[in-house]
Amino acid sequence: ERKAALSASSGPGATSDGHKVPLLANVGGPADVPAAVEAGAEGVGLFRTEFLFLDDSKKAPSEAKQVEAYRKVLEAFPEGRVVVRVLDAGADKPLDFLTPADEPNPALGVRGLRTLLDHPDVLRTQLTALAKAAEGLPVYLEVMAPMVADRTDAKAFADACREAGLNAKFGAMVEIPSAALRARSILQEVEFLSLGTNDLAQYTFAADRQVGAVSRLQDPWQPALLDLVAASAEAAKAEGKSCGVCGEAAADPLLACVLTGLGVTSLSMGAASIPYVRATLAKHTLAQCERAAAAARATDSAEEARVAAQAVLSGE
Ligand code: PEP
Ligand code: MG
Repeated sequence: ERKAALSASSGPGATSDGHKVPLLANVGGPADVPAAVEAGAEGVGLFRTEFLFLDDSKKAPSEAKQVEAYRKVLEAFPEGRVVVRVLDAGADKPLDFLTPADEPNPALGVRGLRTLLDHPDVLRTQLTALAKAAEGLPVYLEVMAPMVADRTDAKAFADACREAGLNAKFGAMVEIPSAALRARSILQEVEFLSLGTNDLAQYTFAADRQVGAVSRLQDPWQPALLDLVAASAEAAKAEGKSCGVCGEAAADPLLACVLTGLGVTSLSMGAASIPYVRATLAKHTLAQCERAAAAARATDSAEEARVAAQAVLSGE
């Protein structure tokens, strides 16, 4: 039955009553593109560009090398949407030549956008390469920064994009609770938000994502995390802008319905999860998703939230 449901399910992501929720793929580079296309991804919601920087531990890849890799991904989604995240170095993704070696607490140190603002040449090369890669393609390019903490960060990133002459939408990832709490102020500087629920959980619960002993607190069903998702989605709605999810949370079909009910406007995940999320979303109305979201938020634990959402969505 599951197989039949999956094969019957193709095309754009939507609830059973036609509320569209684009289903996008998370990719690490051109090698991940065929699986994304095969799964029917409507574009890329998170292009993690770190992979390009792993070949050489001493310096950033040349502009030409970056243009080539970006173009391969952009070309795969003609008329589609591709959201590229600029380099997210540091903490769980250290790079020798950029990441300070002596930080007592790298997850709270210079990482993500903070690294790029300390190395404007690296950011400039990446943005220029993206501008060149998108030249002449019909693709709808969006570029976002990881680890945006506040409006000052968002403005610094948007300024850098403008200075590089980038013809794209600029966005901010919401991975730090401060960004979710003040999402409306961040949206004065950028055009979209994308929730990185892996880091958002880490920083909300003070629970290192690389430490298995605290994994209970990394559960994206935690009601506190759902509250921050709701705050971000509501802010985006009030500003007439979009707010997607590109963390692991989007890959859980039941949670994908809850996120939709919270007002999230697109879901990006590993390609393998797309058919399951599409099939589950297609079985429920937007109103059911909203009721499931409210039921989940009314609980006090991840386990209870999951059970409450399941009960609503299975019509109990
Ligand atoms: C996240 O933090 O949820 C995210 C999407 O980014 P990454 O997992 O690459 O840190
Ligand atoms: Mg992250």
